[in-house]
Amino acid sequence: MPSQIAIESLSPDELVAEHASLSARYADLTAKNLTLDLTRGKPSPEQLDLANGLLTLPGEDFRDGTGLDTRNYGGLDGLPELRAIFSELLNIPVGNLLAGNNASLEIMHDLVVFALLHGTPDSERPWSAEPVVKFLAPSPGYDRHFAITESFGIEMIPVPLNDDGPDMDVVRELVANDAAIKGIWTVPTYANPTGAVYSEEITRALVSMPTAAPDFRIIWDNAYAVHALVEQGAPALDVLGLAAEAGNPNRPLALASTSKITFAGAGVSFFGASSENIAWYQKHYGIKSIGPDKVNQLRHLRFFGDADGVRAHMAKHREILAPKFALVQEILTERLDGTGVATWTRPEGGYFVSLDVVPGTARRVVQLAREAGISLTAAGCAFPYGTDPEDANIRLAPSFPSLDDVRTSMDGVATCVLLAATEARLA
Ligand code: PLP
Repeated sequence: MPSQIAIESLSPDELVAEHASLSARYADLTAKNLTLDLTRGKPSPEQLDLANGLLTLPGEDFRDGTGLDTRNYGGLDGLPELRAIFSELLNIPVGNLLAGNNASLEIMHDLVVFALLHGTPDSERPWSAEPVVKFLAPSPGYDRHFAITESFGIEMIPVPLNDDGPDMDVVRELVANDAAIKGIWTVPTYANPTGAVYSEEITRALVSMPTAAPDFRIIWDNAYAVHALVEQGAPALDVLGLAAEAGNPNRPLALASTSKITFAGAGVSFFGASSENIAWYQKHYGIKSIGPDKVNQLRHLRFFGDADGVRAHMAKHREILAPKFALVQEILTERLDGTGVATWTRPEGGYFVSLDVVPGTARRVVQLAREAGISLTAAGCAFPYGTDPEDANIRLAPSFPSLDDVRTSMDGVATCVLLAATEARLA
């Protein structure tokens, strides 16, 4: 068994000895001249290869089932047959679901811009005409969400994120009393980076809670809806139905994409919302585009065939990803369990593991890792404005590296976590 000493219980002499032994281990690590990368949640080449069938589709048969010539302009809604497949997977009625271009992030950006410039169907005025606009940011969360709101000067309020969704006591209190709070960022299934899965109870609370702002929106970014690492994945909740039932049909704006199903740079995005929101979005989106890339949508349709085709495809991703995530758990447990210097998530899906180290040492861990040739995402990246008030959180993304590289880099990260912890205690 590896030594798993609670750092806190060491005597001063033992602590000095432990620090010396970790420093020697760290020197060995740097001597390896590694160049490893655990930064972004990208699919590995092996995963991308799973969708290579797309590269020869749709072939000469460029019409969809309705006879539409996908090569031409138009079709702002996206192909009905592809929307039907994702309607089933995302639990969003097909009439309320659009298929778009390759990036759901682009739609999220548009939604915020349209609300700022034009106001939503429920707004008294454009958000940009308000003295202050605020968004709730369950944290740790997705840095690119936070970058959108930050770029437009929308003030972000961090909210603690639990395993089943945001801390609703905090959320309820804030939104009930501050009309400047116009929305909340959410990743309801296998959240980036903690793996949290929003429970039905929390979802119901989000769609039904009284909000001071009449035009409050939930950006329901279901980017990992079908990305389970276990056989029985979390079901997609009927967020639009629950919101309508609660009398707030326009509150959720749901997103998804095939970025981590087929090709991260050439997939299809989806946008689901109430009929009123869809009409609002298309009124403004129709100014910037005559229609999405329907040839890409058609090849996705042909590639999958039906929802079971997507499920079968995701099982192949799981075969590649699950061993990498299991290895992360194995090494973190082997090296850090019992040391009292780290806790981490055990996600059942998605692309990340969220690691919490001794408060005040996350930046040091990232620096030590970098100097040893292991790139980690900047400490604090998962918090609004890139600032983790505790300087404790590190986002790990094991999807892209090979199994061997995951092993080497995670072992290195564990050494850096322990070294930074002993440094901090000696300081
Ligand atoms: N939403 C979340 C939560 C993500 O983690 C990512 C990618 O990492 C995206 C959206 C990006 O999606 P897309 O490629 O559809 O723009």
